[in-house]
Amino acid sequence: MRETQLQVRTKVWGNMQCTEGTLSLQQQRWMQEAFSMAHEALVNGEVPVGCVMVFKDTVVWRGNNEVNVTKNATRHAEMVAADEVLSWCRQQDLAPDSVFPHTTLYVTVEPCVMCTAALRFLRIKAVVYGCRNERFGGCGSVLSVHSDNLPNTGKSFQCISGHRAQEAVDMLKSFYRGQNPNAPIPKVKEGAQLEEQT
Ligand SMILES: [Zn+2]
Repeated sequence: MRETQLQVRTKVWGNMQCTEGTLSLQQQRWMQEAFSMAHEALVNGEVPVGCVMVFKDTVVWRGNNEVNVTKNATRHAEMVAADEVLSWCRQQDLAPDSVFPHTTLYVTVEPCVMCTAALRFLRIKAVVYGCRNERFGGCGSVLSVHSDNLPNTGKSFQCISGHRAQEAVDMLKSFYRGQNPNAPIPKVKEGAQLEEQT
């Protein structure tokens, strides 16, 4: 992936810059994998957020949220993915500090504040995401953890947003409105904002 392949336009959200634009064909394929994982989660009654971790041009991990299956509210797709990349580093005898700066996360929904902070501590290169997370987003929607000047928290990183955003939102709405027969009882009232766990 080369950033020069991107046909981007710049969008300013608050005090940070985020790019929203057209992805390269390869990036679109990786996002397709993330969407496939989100769809799989939806079918299995899990919060439909899917992600793919790509080190250079190699997919190291693809997965989705595991909040419901583990009964652990911190098992967001990005946290699971980060743990799996660390395991992969151990298997490959590679230092995480040499891997994450060359790793991009492709995820269907904007990472929350917790996940964004974790990704920043790990020194991830970039995040490409679908829809915004208006209640908990850490990449511009609520806070700009990815780009703010935060001492001793690793480097800021680039975000590219907006790819198939409506589709990502529709999956979340479908989940929280209980359209999936395997989904747990919705935690929000009809018409409320999208709930936690993203
Ligand atoms: Zn999260």
